[in-house]
Amino acid sequence: MSIETNLLQLNAQLPANVVLVAVSKKKSAAEMMEAYRAGQRHFGENYVQELLAKQLHMPADTIWHFIGHLQRNKVKQLAPFAHWVHAVDSIRLLDEIEKQFVLCGRQVQCLLQVHVAREETKFGWEPDELLSVIHSLDLSKYRAVVLRGLMAMASFTDDTATIRLEFMQVQSLFNRLKESAFAGRPQFDTLSMGMSSDWPVAVQCGSNMVRIGSAIFGERT
Ligand SMILES: *Cc1c(COP(=O)(O)O)cnc(C)c1O
Repeated sequence: MSIETNLLQLNAQLPANVVLVAVSKKKSAAEMMEAYRAGQRHFGENYVQELLAKQLHMPADTIWHFIGHLQRNKVKQLAPFAHWVHAVDSIRLLDEIEKQFVLCGRQVQCLLQVHVAREETKFGWEPDELLSVIHSLDLSKYRAVVLRGLMAMASFTDDTATIRLEFMQVQSLFNRLKESAFAGRPQFDTLSMGMSSDWPVAVQCGSNMVRIGSAIFGERT
């Protein structure tokens, strides 16, 4: 099926409040343009060099989401282009993002990554750890960084019950933070959860931003 058909089908199924980020990692700018012509504007990339190369070929109103693990020494290269950073997993990284985007005179929407999956290798804060980190953080010091919410990945499994439990843990943490540290900060409104295989469960658990690659562009080689 074509990229356009895949997008049409997804958009027909997604609730209106859910932002679809088309994950274009390892796909060409030509394939991205096919999605763009079908109306898609939010694109997600995992590698800084790939984002830098592709932004040369995409229209100026493309909205770039950096969704991969980000090293502090790469933030500077990303600062002129990225609109969103999904996988913030340390305050040192958040502070470097603040510094580099201030230097660029740009704002950036940031999501804090929560670790709920069984896999050891996935990045992010444990829920309890994130609660205490946020409560001891001076949120008013950020000028370029806009803290928009949380991002998470579920375990790599076919077991829907496990996936649902993990997403629900993130949703509950999100709600707790909204009512405590982020009370009075309505920009903290985004829950980025759900990929090609698990987005319906994520949306049922309150996700309002899904990151979908293979269900749009086909399998990656
Ligand atoms: C690759 C990737 C996705 C999209 O995965 P698909 O299974 O192709 O939809 C979503 N989020 C992150 C962080 C990714 O690395």
